[in-house]
Amino acid sequence: MENVQKDSLLLFPCPGCNAQLYFNPEHQKLECKYCGTQVAIDQASNQIREKSLKQQLSVTGDPDAAIEQLVHKCERCGSESVFISETPTFTCSFCNFEVVNPVAYKTRIIQPSGIIPFKVDKEQSVTIFKKWLGKGWWAPGDLKEFARQDALHGTYLPFWTYDAQTFSEWTGEGGRHYYVTVEERDSNGNTTTRQEQRTEWIYRSGTYNTTFDDLLIGGADELTQKEYESIFPFQLEELVNFDARYLSGFSADVYDISVADGYAKAEKIMEQEIYDACVDECRIDTYRNVQVSTSYENQTYKHILLPLWVCSYKYKSKQYHFLVNGQTGKIYGSKPVSTAKVVLTVIVVLIIIIVIYFLSQQQTPQQP
Ligand SMILES: [Zn+2]
Ligand SMILES: [Zn+2]
Repeated sequence: MENVQKDSLLLFPCPGCNAQLYFNPEHQKLECKYCGTQVAIDQASNQIREKSLKQQLSVTGDPDAAIEQLVHKCERCGSESVFISETPTFTCSFCNFEVVNPVAYKTRIIQPSGIIPFKVDKEQSVTIFKKWLGKGWWAPGDLKEFARQDALHGTYLPFWTYDAQTFSEWTGEGGRHYYVTVEERDSNGNTTTRQEQRTEWIYRSGTYNTTFDDLLIGGADELTQKEYESIFPFQLEELVNFDARYLSGFSADVYDISVADGYAKAEKIMEQEIYDACVDECRIDTYRNVQVSTSYENQTYKHILLPLWVCSYKYKSKQYHFLVNGQTGKIYGSKPVSTAKVVLTVIVVLIIIIVIYFLSQQQTPQQP
């Protein structure tokens, strides 16, 4: 690993005053905070192409896919971020660890082909977070202090998208319910009848072919796929060609989940969807013993960066995340529950029940 002088890093200087330009989500342009100069970025999407997964996973790999990139690794949590500009201090999006004069090293990573630039700016994400916190009466009161500006990080997270064509053959048994009349004797010796459900099993088989388009798998293992999915969907039709200038003012995480491991996750999701579809074809009233065999073909992938506002916080030594989709503003979070508030609620509810009980006793008319 080779350390790099920070003055050799790429900068986006203002053509007006030479200060650093930052990407402004509101105007979708680079902006200078000092002289107000705006620089537009060409928003074409012609370079976003699906690449062959087979070639990428071959022994030689796809030589065109990888680039050399400056990366900083968080000393506390190990999360890796792309370095695009001079950064006197660096704060980790996932654990809030701050370093002065962070060190970057060169590494080869698969180049993102597309990016969705931030649309929700910091101010908006703080408003969304505060509103969401306000809704949860169960949350402890002191949680509000986490809704500070500095606890929120605008981060482009790495994603893989996968396409595949699938060809499946399935076999199984479809069950048809029918009813028979059963005679019974009750305890008095009388004959009674009742309807009883039976199932006729019919062997069935078939084929099921489908295509999957842009199955989205999170590439950073700091978050779980479930957490990623909680702020889906992203409007992928708004992807534009990757341009490092969109990252200016934000951080960007490097994938820890390889293109192959991401595909394994995607294939599990496809397998489940295919199984569910085959079950639907096999089922009459019910089904059993459904076996599916699938071949996956023409798999392709893309590597893209998507915008997220991330807040990671520890509350009473437990880690919580909340995420805001940087494109749509959709929020997800896990919120701690205040024990005091729960106990208080239980007591109040008990008092109400007791009061209602006594009131109803008093209103009961006296028996003559
Ligand atoms: Zn300027
Ligand atoms: Zn960290």
